[in-house]
Amino acid sequence: MSELNLILLGPPGAGKGTQADRLREDFGLPHISTGDMLRAQVVENTALGGEAKRYMDAGELVPDEVIISMIIDRIGDEDARDGFLLDGFPRNEQQADALARALGGLDRRLSAALLIEVSDEDLVRRLAGRRVCVKNPGHIYHVEFDPPKHEGVCDQDGSRLIQRDDDQEETIRTRLQVYHSQTEPLIGYYDHAGLLRRFDGQRTAEEVHAHIRATLATLRLEEKL
Ligand SMILES: [Zn+2]
Repeated sequence: MSELNLILLGPPGAGKGTQADRLREDFGLPHISTGDMLRAQVVENTALGGEAKRYMDAGELVPDEVIISMIIDRIGDEDARDGFLLDGFPRNEQQADALARALGGLDRRLSAALLIEVSDEDLVRRLAGRRVCVKNPGHIYHVEFDPPKHEGVCDQDGSRLIQRDDDQEETIRTRLQVYHSQTEPLIGYYDHAGLLRRFDGQRTAEEVHAHIRATLATLRLEEKL
């Protein structure tokens, strides 16, 4: 059985979550979002969660070793036997090296790093136009692509629509700067290792999905040879 051990890369707002959901359906790959995993372990008060919480309470970053231990723990689960989709880690070359070593210790290795590319201008347009319902944050609109019938009012319950702080243009541009400075070396790293696969995130979610699926099907065939 050939595994698909994947990393998902791309700027905030590129649609990584959407693609991850579809890949889980297509290939049965669990989506391991390190942020979610970390929060879940803290809530469940596991040994690693407790350790992570001490750093977080002190306002410090959770060390790479703790995150990697959680990942190694998670990919040992039955549902990750044929592969996984890792999102949110690694964020730099040092973490990438540490992850490669940890996977090597399990006699596993990465199959590919999937990069969904979207221009900064397009991302700002997508994110800054987003409006959410104050009553139900699941009610999401976009001033340009999916406007409500009445400006500033939720179609579903008549509540006020607001722009979240995270979606302010200033905030988005700062996040993008951080993304570029951290992730660009990582893109070069995986490119150099022959693992990088690029996808045009300006296309529709359906088109991106079709392209990723075709790429992974080919990858799996090649691994079987
Ligand atoms: Zn609403």
